[in-house]
Amino acid sequence: MTTIAANLQAVQARIEAAAKAAGRDPASVRLLAVSKTWPAACVREAAAAGQTAFGENYAQEGAAKIDEIDDPRLEWHFIGPLQSNKTRLVATRFDWVHSIEREKIARRLSEQRDAHRPPLNVCIQVNVSGEASKSGVAPDEVLPLARAVAQLPRLRLRGLMCIPEPTPDAAVLGRRFACLRELRDRLAAEGLALDTLSMGMSDDLEAAIAEGSTLVRVGSAIFGQRAYPNPTTE
Ligand SMILES: *Cc1c(COP(=O)(O)O)cnc(C)c1O
Repeated sequence: MTTIAANLQAVQARIEAAAKAAGRDPASVRLLAVSKTWPAACVREAAAAGQTAFGENYAQEGAAKIDEIDDPRLEWHFIGPLQSNKTRLVATRFDWVHSIEREKIARRLSEQRDAHRPPLNVCIQVNVSGEASKSGVAPDEVLPLARAVAQLPRLRLRGLMCIPEPTPDAAVLGRRFACLRELRDRLAAEGLALDTLSMGMSDDLEAAIAEGSTLVRVGSAIFGQRAYPNPTTE
């Protein structure tokens, strides 16, 4: 077995154990393999081991990799910060975007999504860490943005995403993830039923699953340490 295949198995075992510990069905948590910075060969290796969903957070790198791999069985998720001049690249290549934080970006993605493809699945990124983080919308701005995004014809609003600030305090981390779950419940009460809570990474997926994560985004525990730093957590 290759290292990537063995790592995938180990991560799946962690997901299963965390789900069971939380009294949840392990099948209710999906694994997104975050392949940013890793070459197409690593994605192919993971795909050969049965992994189908991959995450990228640089638009150009991701689009080039998707074109190179050209495998319709794979599902591609854009999880990084998204600027207006990169929306077309993302709208035409990816299946999901987790990092919606502005209506203007959402509108461009909807306009640029090819008519022959299914709607683009999107999540709103929420700043659950207050002052400690800059990306994502504030919790009290989620409902109006969700209402606006839900109106866009070529997007399908699926859920919420968060990246808590790095913290060694398990109680703080748990509260950040719980905040996203409570927001999801509040939106449901307003008639916006969402099926996805995108939260949890290599170091904190257990805490995220305990608070209801339905999709964990895991990079280094599958592919190894990245050679260049992760801009989203700096
Ligand atoms: C890089 C990245 C991940 C994966 O991080 P790891 O710690 O390597 O698992 C998850 N989510 C986002 C948004 C990322 O940019």
